Amino acid sequence: MDISIVVPLFNEEESLPELCRWIERVVNDNGYTYEILLVDDGSTDKSWETVENLHAANPNIKGIKFRRNYGKSAALNQGFQAAKGKVVITMDADLQDSPDEIPELYKMITRDGFDLVSGWKKRRYDSKLTKNIPSKLYNATTRRLSGVKLHDMNCGLKAYRSEVVKSIEVYGEMHRYIPVIAKWAGFRKIGEKVVEHRKRKFGITKFGWERFINGFLDLVTIMFVSKFGKKPMHLFGSLGTLLFLIGFVIAGYLAWARIFFAAYKMTERPIFYFGLLAMILGTVLFMTGFLAELISRSAPDRNHYLIEKELS
Ligand code: UDP
Ligand code: MG
Repeated sequence: MDISIVVPLFNEEESLPELCRWIERVVNDNGYTYEILLVDDGSTDKSWETVENLHAANPNIKGIKFRRNYGKSAALNQGFQAAKGKVVITMDADLQDSPDEIPELYKMITRDGFDLVSGWKKRRYDSKLTKNIPSKLYNATTRRLSGVKLHDMNCGLKAYRSEVVKSIEVYGEMHRYIPVIAKWAGFRKIGEKVVEHRKRKFGITKFGWERFINGFLDLVTIMFVSKFGKKPMHLFGSLGTLLFLIGFVIAGYLAWARIFFAAYKMTERPIFYFGLLAMILGTVLFMTGFLAELISRSAPDRNHYLIEKELS
C-alpha cells in the first residue's frame, strides 16, 4: 500500500464527506493504493455515523472510535499503529488542510528521501491574536531549544516514512512536537513544504489559548526527558552536589570564623541561612536524582534501541 492518510477528528460531522471525496479524487487521479484512517476521538455529534456510511461506500475508508475524548495525540498514535502504507500522511479533519498537497508530500518522502515532511502554513487563515502571533513566538522558541529548524512545528498536515511512525510514541499532548520526537529517535532528514491553508468551513476550533501554556510545559518535559530521561542522576546529582558544596563551604567558613575569632554568633550572619538552605536543597536534589534513577532502571524501554542497519 502506498499511502495511509490518518485523520484525527473530534466533532467534525459536516466536514468528513467533503474531505473524503476530495482525498479520493486526488489519490485516484494519481493512481495510489491507499487507506483513509478516520480516528474518531470520542465525538459527541454524528461523526461516527458519518464514518460508518463512508466506510460502507468505500472499503478503503476505515474507522476507529474511541470511547471518550482522549485528545489529538492519542488519536494520531492509534492511527500510526494501524497504518499499513509505506508513507503515512496526517491531516486535520476540518478541511483547513488541502488534500491537493498529498502527491507532492508523497514524492518528497519516496523520491527525495525525507523521513518526515511538515507542512508550513505560510499564509494562515486563523484569528491573528489568539493563533498567528503566539504561534510565531512558540515556533521560534521551539526552534531554538530543540534545534529542529521548522517554521510550523504543529501543522496538522505532515508526511512520514512508515518506519518513523512505527518507531515513535505520541502521548499526552506531544503531537505538537512530533518532529522533535522523531529527531531524537534518530530520524535526521526532516523537511518542510509550504502548504495551502484554508478557513475552517464548519464547526469550531478545539484548542484555545491554553495551548500555549501547555505547549511550553510540554516542550520543557520533552527536552528534559530526551536529555536526561535515561540518566536523571547526571542532572540532579551534579546540581545537588554543587549546591551542597556551596552550602558546606559557607557553613565551614562561618564555623571557622566563630571558633577562631569568636566575633559573632553564626545565626547573626544572614549568609548562614543561605548556606543552610543550599545544603538542604542540595541533599533533596541528590535524593530526587537517586529516586529518578531507580525509576528509570525499571522502565521497560530502558534498553530499547532503534536499529538502522545491521550486517550479519
Ligand atoms: N482533534 C481531535 N481531538 C481533540 C481535539 C481536536 O482529534 O481532542 C482534531 C480535530 O477534529 C481536527 C484536528 O484535531 O481534525 C485539529 O483541531 P482544530 O482544527 O480544532 O485545531 P486548529 O486548526 O484550530 O489548530
Ligand atoms: Mg483546524
